[in-house]
Amino acid sequence: MSADRATKLLRRVSFLIVPLAYTAQLFAQSIVPATPATLYTEFQRQPPAAVMDAMRGEAESIMGRMGIGLEWRALEAARGNEISVQLAVIRFQGKCDAAGLSPHRPQPGALGWTHESDGVILPFGAVDCDRIRSFLQLDLLSVPAADREQVFGRAIGRVLAHELYHIFTRSAHHSPGGVGKAEYGVRDLLAARFVFDEGETAELRNRQLRANAVEPAR
Ligand SMILES: [Zn+2]
Repeated sequence: MSADRATKLLRRVSFLIVPLAYTAQLFAQSIVPATPATLYTEFQRQPPAAVMDAMRGEAESIMGRMGIGLEWRALEAARGNEISVQLAVIRFQGKCDAAGLSPHRPQPGALGWTHESDGVILPFGAVDCDRIRSFLQLDLLSVPAADREQVFGRAIGRVLAHELYHIFTRSAHHSPGGVGKAEYGVRDLLAARFVFDEGETAELRNRQLRANAVEPAR
């Protein structure tokens, strides 16, 4: 039952799908230290404010407990001359909207992924809102309508945090539990609270320290 319902957050090896003109410039500048991390977002369809707020709040809460602040910017507004030590570019695919749910069985597939090239994690990832919707919709339908966008947005924020975990640890590693685990169940995404485990926290903190130690300040 749970195996049937669990959708793997499969890592996918593929080349960039975000516009290279922006991202090549952004990536080249990612070695200059500064905090917080800059998160460039690109939405296929702009989500409702309630979904967006819940997603941002959850991702900021999870990453904040790791000592990583998030500065949100729209990718289309990027000028290519911003400076940040940590950056991620995330494309949100599909409909990040809790309206029009139907009681269909979920389609299997990854809820999100991070790009890599020759074993190196790139700061580019994607979150698939359609898959998250499909995965959760049976359960979202039992959430009071007034709370649905908030609960759905929070779930998207958890998938986003998982991809940021790969990007900021620069690792394809998965942990046994918490936000860095390989598979999420419906309960993980809908629970009132969901956090990294201790190992993930240490790994992220070590990565931060190492990055700060080896990259000279300007
Ligand atoms: Zn993963």
